[in-house]
Amino acid sequence: MTALRPDVAEFDSDSQPAVGVPASSQGEGSGLVQLHESIATLLASRGQWRQAYQHLRSAFDLVYADQDEEPQVPEQLRREVDRLRREHAEAREQSLRDSLTDSYNRRYLDERLVDMVAARGTAASSLAIALIDLDWFKQVNDTFGHVLGDRVLQQVVELLQEELPEGAFCARYGGEEFVLVLPDVEAATAVAVAEAARLRVERHSWSSLAAGLRVTVSVGLAYEPPAADTSTRPPVSPEQQLLRADGLLYTAKQSGRNAVAYRENGRVRLAGAASGRRGIAESRVVGY
Ligand code: GH3
Ligand code: MG
Ligand code: MG
Repeated sequence: MTALRPDVAEFDSDSQPAVGVPASSQGEGSGLVQLHESIATLLASRGQWRQAYQHLRSAFDLVYADQDEEPQVPEQLRREVDRLRREHAEAREQSLRDSLTDSYNRRYLDERLVDMVAARGTAASSLAIALIDLDWFKQVNDTFGHVLGDRVLQQVVELLQEELPEGAFCARYGGEEFVLVLPDVEAATAVAVAEAARLRVERHSWSSLAAGLRVTVSVGLAYEPPAADTSTRPPVSPEQQLLRADGLLYTAKQSGRNAVAYRENGRVRLAGAASGRRGIAESRVVGY
């Protein structure tokens, strides 16, 4: 992540003071002004935006301290501050994205799950977590190469993100594993959304990427009902819920892959067309 583009870090040019301080304002204290500006530039280049902003403010205050009339905020200063804010927001957004697929990353997932679980303590909202793993993906790499494997991951993310309900998001959990987070949906809706995502991947025209390519995913879906429904048992942490999703993912894999596994009334089931399969492996389903 680049903290600041070179064109942003131009405050301390020799000919003109940073942030557009008018030449007429240069007198006593201008050395101090320039010092503040230099420090601001240094801090900004390190991504220490708040401190950089404070030094810019100090420079600004120094310049206008002795003037009687109401200080005019120089347009250039305003633009610089706006640009710093924008850069900061962009840098923060980038730090929460996965560089290959542009989906949200694990850091974003962890932050959001903590927030959501905290909110569930007070609000009557449910939370569904679907852990998604590409099937036989090592073979895809071995057969078609890593570059194509990367493109498959990008395409899978696009497919997973299609038609998500409001408030839902997709994050890369790591490697070829992704998470769909679905807040405030009914259990049946969560199953339908996960199954639809699985089906989109299965039905995508993968052969247009490489002849003979076929890609499917397996999904473990862990659903937590609204807090009001769980008042008799302790709340489930994000880690526990992810662990349950992982157990269900294992079931989906053991049951033939290309399937969504979830729990209903205590029993593990497979969604959609896979529901008729026999021999659902439950041995590693944990947390219940
Ligand atoms: P399973 O159906 O049991 O999940 O089998 P699998 O082959 O998908 O699972 P395995 O864990 O054996 O292999 C996962 C592979 O995913 C191995 C690894 O090289 C690949 N992989 C992980 N991250 C990336 C990536 O960013 N790009 C590419 N091209 N491959 C990746
Ligand atoms: Mg995996
Ligand atoms: Mg896999």
